This record gives sequence, structure tokens and C-alpha cells, in this order.
Amino acid sequence: MKVLVSGGCGFIGSHFLRYMMNAYRDYSFICLDALTYAGNKNNIKDLLKDSRLTMIEGNIRNAVFLDTLFATYKPDVIVHFAAETHVDRSITGPQVFLETNVIGTGILLDACLRHGIERFHHVSTDEVYGTLPLQGGSAFTEQSPLLPSSPYAASKASSDLLVLSYYKTYGLPITISRCSNNYGTHQYPEKLIPLMIQRALQEAPLPVYGDGLNVRDWIHVVDHCRAIDFILKKGTVGEVYNVGAGEEIPNIKLVKQILDVLGKPYELITYVPDRLGHDLRYAIDSSRLETLGWKAEYTMEETLQGIVEWYRANVI
Ligand code: NAD
Repeated sequence: MKVLVSGGCGFIGSHFLRYMMNAYRDYSFICLDALTYAGNKNNIKDLLKDSRLTMIEGNIRNAVFLDTLFATYKPDVIVHFAAETHVDRSITGPQVFLETNVIGTGILLDACLRHGIERFHHVSTDEVYGTLPLQGGSAFTEQSPLLPSSPYAASKASSDLLVLSYYKTYGLPITISRCSNNYGTHQYPEKLIPLMIQRALQEAPLPVYGDGLNVRDWIHVVDHCRAIDFILKKGTVGEVYNVGAGEEIPNIKLVKQILDVLGKPYELITYVPDRLGHDLRYAIDSSRLETLGWKAEYTMEETLQGIVEWYRANVI
């Protein structure tokens, strides 16, 4: 089995490669990554010593390049992580989000159609569902309407619809996962957890949007990777699967937990004007996947200390 992982030098893609290379000794892997500011070859440095992994630097928006890549390596399965992912950047500069997340996904889908593949798995997000009220409201199910708030979320919702259309129109064998916020090592330090750790270690102000009460549903990145592997094996082609661990945490509580782990004072917290269109709360219902037998194994409480230590040693 040959698995092509787009965006494999990013946060989740690099964890997915590590997880799969450990789990499947007889598979080979291709990491396709444009190495944008968010892509870091060092994230897979250890894995590149293994001859089962080939690193190809290139852009999913380049159809000619993709044709050569597919003809040369003949991948069986595509797991598509490559995307622009930072909500704040999508607010100040949405265009590249449309180019990579929508058009790039379309170009990659076309390459899959031309070359024939066993499965295209699209890695999406719970942000496509928009926001829930802080109190009440039912957790998002796969049937919840797509009501994205940010240009990032809208570009991911658009790509989800495109992927589903390639199943309905052309019969391309696709699956989609919509996952909640991931935490773990190797994340680019513009995202909440590594940013807060970095600031706290520098004893610099920790910027918290609005009143800090916005709630995110968190999942350990390795649980997300296990879920994608599980969907590849047990999922039904054409289906969407929510992925979450049911750990709803207000941003301010998480920031305080990080300060506690580091032994730094809460006085470092600085409230800043709220993000435009800021979603209040995400909560995801993963019962479809759990009924099939997948369940999250890690908790924030058990793993946060180790993650903080990793960032202290590797990023700061
Ligand atoms: P990331 O920003 O850390 O990594 C994205 C990777 O994609 C980088 O390595 C980058 O170089 C690469 N890339 C970007 N544009 C490319 C292009 N045009 N061609 C080829 N490669 C390109 O992102 P992440 O947090 O690892 O997220 C991966 C996927 O998971 C995304 O699709 C994201 O929407 C989704 N997701 C993320 C989270 C989360 O909490 N981080 C939650 C749910 C879903």
C-alpha cells in the first residue's frame, strides 16, 4: 500500500506520518508538501531516515507537477491535510485560503480522478459548522448545517462540498473527517497553545481574545491520527465522520492551565480586542465514529505537562 500524505510537514500531517509508519511496516509513504511558512521538514526529520518515506516538495495547485508525481509513485491512498490553517491570517488575507483550500483541493481531486486511487480522505474541521451558543445548543453532528464564520472555515466548508461532489458525480471513493481543535507537539507557534507557552516562557504578555470565555473542543493530535486511520479501514465511502474527544475548555481556563504548568503568574494574561467573527463555542458529537469502535484515548490533563516540556526544549 502506498499512502500519499499532502501537508505531511505540518502539525497534524507529520504526526499522521509518524503514527502510520509505526503502525504499518509494509506500507510506503510519500510526503507532498509546499513547505509554506507552516511546513517544517524538521517535523519529519527522523522519519526521513526510513527508506519507506519519500519527501516531495511541491504545490497541490500545480496540476502538471501532480500528474508526474502520480505517474511516478502511483499512490493507492491520498490523505489530504495540505491547507492554509490559521483563522487570523484568513481574516487579514483570505485569498490564499481560497487558492489552496478550495482550488488546490479541486486540482488534487482531478489528479486522483485521472490516475485512479483507492481512497481520497479529506481532513476537515468542526469549524465548518460555525458556532454554538456558550450555554445550551446541541453538539454538532454530521447533519448539522454548514455555517462557517471565518474565511478559513468557509474555505474548508467549500472544499468539503467539492470533495462530496466528486463522490456523487464521478464516484471518486472519498471519506471526510471533521475534527475539533488538536493539541500536541510540532505545532507552528502562532496557534493558541504553542503561542501561550512561548510568551509565558519569555514572561511576555499572553494575548487572550475578548473575555477569554470562548470554548473550544480539544483532542490530542494522535487520537485524531488514529481516527483517520480507523476511517480508512472501517469508514464507508462517501461518508463524513466527526472526530472529537469531548474536552470542552474555555480559552482562559486553558491559558491558566499552561501558566500553572510553567509556574508563571496569571498577571501575564492580557485581554485584547476580540477576533472578528469569533465563534463562541464548538462542541462535536463523534457518536457515528464511536459506534464503529473508535474512541479518544488521551486527555489534556494527562498530556499537557509533556507537551509544554516539548515546546520548552524545541521551540523557545
Ligand atoms: P499546518 O498549517 O500545521 O500544516 C499545513 C501543511 O500544509 C504545511 O506543512 C504546509 O506547508 C502545507 N501546505 C500548505 N499549502 C500547501 C500547498 N498549496 N501545497 C502543498 N502543501 C501545502 O496545519 P495543521 O494544523 O496540521 O492542519 C492540517 C489539516 O487539518 C488542515 O487541512 C486543517 O484544516 C485540518 N484541521 C486542523 C485542526 C487543528 O486543530 N490544527 C483541526 C481540524 C482540522
